[in-house]
Amino acid sequence: MNTQDTPSRAEAVITSQNVSLNNCDREQVQFPAAIQPHGVLLVLNEPELIVLQCSANVDAQFATEPDVLIGQHLSYLLSDRAIDALQSGLAKIGMDSPHEHLLRLHHSDIKPLSATQAYEVFAHRRDSVLILELEAVGNYPSVDLSSLYGDVRRCVAQLQSTRSIEDFFTTAAQQVRQLTGFDRVHVYQFLEDKSGLVCAESNRDGLKSYKGLRFPASDVPEPARRLLSRLWIRHLPDAAYQPAPLIPPLNPLTGTPLDLSHALLRSTSPLCNRFYLNMGVHSTLTLSLIKDGELWGFIACHHPQPKFVPHEIREACESLAHMVSLLMSSKNDADEISEILEAKTAAERLIEAMAGEDIYPLGLVRSEQDLLGCVDALGAAIIVGEAITLLGRTPNEEQLLSLARWLTLHDEIFVTDRLPEQYPAAYPFKEHASGLLVVRLPEGGGFLLWFRPEQVQEVRWAGDPVKPVETDTASGLARLGPRRSFEIWQETVHGHSRAWKSYHVEAARKVAQAIRSLDRAERLTRSNQALLLDNEELESFTYTAAHDLKEPLRGIGRYSERLMQNLGNISPDDERMRLDAILRLTRRMDGLIDSLLNYSRLGKTQLALQCADLGQVVREALDSLQLRVEEGQVAITVKPGFPVLICDPIRMHEVFINLIANAVKYNENPNKQVEIGVVKDPEWVFYVRDNGIGIPPEFHDSIFSIFKRLHGRDAYGGGTGAGLSIVKKVVELHGGRIWLESVPGKGSAFFFSLPDLAEDLAAGLS
Ligand code: ADP
Repeated sequence: MNTQDTPSRAEAVITSQNVSLNNCDREQVQFPAAIQPHGVLLVLNEPELIVLQCSANVDAQFATEPDVLIGQHLSYLLSDRAIDALQSGLAKIGMDSPHEHLLRLHHSDIKPLSATQAYEVFAHRRDSVLILELEAVGNYPSVDLSSLYGDVRRCVAQLQSTRSIEDFFTTAAQQVRQLTGFDRVHVYQFLEDKSGLVCAESNRDGLKSYKGLRFPASDVPEPARRLLSRLWIRHLPDAAYQPAPLIPPLNPLTGTPLDLSHALLRSTSPLCNRFYLNMGVHSTLTLSLIKDGELWGFIACHHPQPKFVPHEIREACESLAHMVSLLMSSKNDADEISEILEAKTAAERLIEAMAGEDIYPLGLVRSEQDLLGCVDALGAAIIVGEAITLLGRTPNEEQLLSLARWLTLHDEIFVTDRLPEQYPAAYPFKEHASGLLVVRLPEGGGFLLWFRPEQVQEVRWAGDPVKPVETDTASGLARLGPRRSFEIWQETVHGHSRAWKSYHVEAARKVAQAIRSLDRAERLTRSNQALLLDNEELESFTYTAAHDLKEPLRGIGRYSERLMQNLGNISPDDERMRLDAILRLTRRMDGLIDSLLNYSRLGKTQLALQCADLGQVVREALDSLQLRVEEGQVAITVKPGFPVLICDPIRMHEVFINLIANAVKYNENPNKQVEIGVVKDPEWVFYVRDNGIGIPPEFHDSIFSIFKRLHGRDAYGGGTGAGLSIVKKVVELHGGRIWLESVPGKGSAFFFSLPDLAEDLAAGLS
């Protein structure tokens, strides 16, 4: 296999120690300083159009000596008509465009009257010069363009109607053969290891088939691949040509060799030409195939005799190569479509099965068929720490534990169809696991692995893949030359599995993603359940404690009261006082337990939300506190502007009672004042401000804790220290928050916010 742009300049002379295929890769094929002689190349400056360089064959083609032509204006060679047409064509060509066809020169357009044939003129620019290529048309019969367009249209329609990828490429090869008349046309695909495979062909009857043959990567070295991806089409009419050198060899403007990578007449590597001749090929045409922006392969046309393809047909072929490139991305083999579908459905079923289990790994184990089917594997393993679950054909546990240690060095997803090459410890179990696809399990580590068995492959190489080039040693130097033998080499490849397709890797990725979500959901459910249990335990503990504590308390209270009655007036005062104390403590304890119960029930509270006028709620709270307000001689001010909000009015009543009662209670000011108001900022913020004793800043947070009091048990009329904790809980249940501002000795202001649920709802709906 080859393209006409393979390796080197003339057989690269290299020392024998140095003979390596890399030498081919370093060849500078774009600077041959020579062209194929079926045309003439002129290098001109712009806009003057003075000839700077020309190919040495100008004398043969135009009977003009290069030395005479160099330094002349182009009009020395071409008619005014031709120069006018050329100049208007040049205006349309960009600086980096590949060569473009500008016009056809008839022999009347060529001044040295020796010209006997017509020329097609192509132009492009490189290295700040204009490169004109005049390709001799020879005696090729003129092409009927309208029938050519019809042919191309038919080709495209046929390509579109193919059912499988194999059909598609075979049709492409047939079409190109029909258009060009080459004996042998094959579609050559680059494989991952850069070797090539003939995946389809169309040959003249009686020719040996190349289909299925593999060609070593060195047959199309890197420089040739680069050229292939730059130019869609290349043509070598006669591999046995004598190159026509450029005169002078260096670009006079830059002093360096001229880059001819876009020139259609560029002289190809002699090594490559010999390669063709060794294969019995005299002329070639190569059409690049590009898939998703990358060089995918090419269509190669070979002929045993010299063969010139005129530019109209080359253009038709080029359009076809574009169409093949475009269509191949959307063409999927019918078999492949059903495989894609199978992988997708199996992955979906597997994910569903995992989601249906309380612990997702159970779903993996119970859906063995889908677990294997989603990536088309024969074995799978789940490794979490030292625990391993095996399904289908797998290595043993010990082998897997070592493999898992090696895998920790790799990415989230690891895929290979030749594990023993990358991990030599896999040789002993290559029958089960030459192919490996791994996804990492979430936190805590672990892997999900799929295995594909070894598939011993018989590869038919076209020639010895180890010695794709030959060397003839002479006097300590080696000449690198193309091989002469194309005997089929049968190679048996071990330690490889079937390659994983992208849709299998995609299915594995989906399963891994699902596992991550399920794992997160499971962790959340587990922590919620734990929280629920904690809450329930706490509630039942509080309830039992409160209930059980009240029982003896009631007894103590009853007995103390009875004792008090029985003692009558005869008992001494100190005994009475002690009994009084017991009764007071009992009541106090009772109060504390009630507060505790109230607080613990709040946890369960569902708010009874309704539209409530908060002004009304405040007024009712003040009614309930009327006695205390009067007793304390407190001046209460209620500011206007209380809104109607969605809230639980009974709970809000409780909030205001607590805050106002505290404002009244913790106040020693002779002129007690309490102000109750509301502002919108941007949510509703309610406040109760007093001019009482104030609260030191270090307690601004802790006073909201249950049973937190800042004073002696009976100071300021006594209190359990539960009021503010209940207020805070109610406010937070409504989605609000509570805070305070206070200066000891001057007073306190308690603020709490409430969201406007109606407003939020309206915003959510809009
Ligand atoms: P209590 O039943 O003791 O009033 P609260 O939870 O309502 O319980 O209040 C906790 C503590 O915060 C009170 O003991 C008091 O020391 C302090 N406190 C509450 N409100 C005020 C206020 N308006 N001014 C000064 N101190 C206050």
